[in-house]
Parts: sequence; structure tokens; C-alpha cells
Amino acid sequence: MSGFYDLTDKAIDLLNRRAVKRFEDAKDEAAQNGFDELNVLEVTRALYQDLTRDNKEIFLELAQERYQEAKPHGEEPPDLAWLLALLAAYNAVTKVIYDNDVDRKRQYTAEGINSSTAKVTEFRRGLHYWADLTATYGDIVTDESTLKAYRDAGVKRVKWHTVLDGKECETCKERDGKIYPINSIPPKPHRKCRCWMEAVK
Ligand SMILES: [Zn+2]
Repeated sequence: MSGFYDLTDKAIDLLNRRAVKRFEDAKDEAAQNGFDELNVLEVTRALYQDLTRDNKEIFLELAQERYQEAKPHGEEPPDLAWLLALLAAYNAVTKVIYDNDVDRKRQYTAEGINSSTAKVTEFRRGLHYWADLTATYGDIVTDESTLKAYRDAGVKRVKWHTVLDGKECETCKERDGKIYPINSIPPKPHRKCRCWMEAVK
């Protein structure tokens, strides 16, 4: 097996490239309409619809590929309903619901563009926040599809592995090597935590 988050990084890269293009196109369209307020609302609505669809598509592929890569894995790879449930649920790491966060980001971007004179900067800010959301949930989708693979294969316990690169937080460092029942793993202490769980035989 290659790195635990290799597929994740590929998915995040792809989504970021798409998002850069989408924000660029949206900015151009809004600029052509002189950043008219109503047009900005329309453009951002369409923009976030596209971004949401991209994430859904690529997150689902990521979940399915990650599931098959997990050792061991079961016979029921994540489907769209699984992903939608994950994105509609409160997350203990982000402390928000993905779907609500998407809505909030769209509103902030639209309001920012309409109320600021630095309109192009507001598009850049929107892209920055979107990339952050995508990276955070890329990790969450990876972790959850892996745990589903383990559970489906009958795994009862997992071993916490911390990436000890000198940048790890105290909590993660303490957890390195600990074994947890698969249904009571403590939530990761922070976003973009790249600690990974190994199935214990
Ligand atoms: Zn960690």
C-alpha cells in the first residue's frame, strides 16, 4: 500500500484546480456585468452549485477507491447515499455540518463581493475558504470510508498512527500506537489531522 492519504491528495489537487477555474470564470462573468448586485447573487449561486457537484463527484470516487485500498475491506463500497449522509451530519472535528457550511460560504462570498470595493479580492478569499473546506472534508471522507471498509470486514479494533514529523500536536502524539474499539475512536483533535487508523487483527 502506498501512503494512506495519496488518493486524498490527488482528489484535493483535482478539486482545487477545478475550483480555481470556476472562481476565475465566475469573476469574469460578474465583471462583464459590472458587478451588478443581482448578477453577483446569480453568479455565486451557480458557482457554489458547480463546486458542490464537483466535490460530491470526486469525494464519492475517493471514498470508493479508498474503501477498496483499505486492508482489509468488505464488499459494500460507499455509495452516494453514504456520502450524502456524511455531508449532512454534524462532524465532531469541524463542529459543523458540511451542507450548512457550504451555504454559509456562498453567502459570505456573495455579500463580500457586493459590499466590498475590492471585489476581485473577495473572489480570491472565497476560493481560499473553499479550498480549505475541500481539504478538510477530503480527509474526513478518507477516514470514514476506511473505517467503513474495516467494519464491513469485521474489524473490531484499530491502532492509531500519528505522523511524527515534529509538527504533530500533543494530543496526537499521546495517541500514537494506542488501540481503540472501532466504534469508540476519539474524534481527531483538529482539522487536517493526518493520523491514520490501522486495522488490528
Ligand atoms: Zn493527528
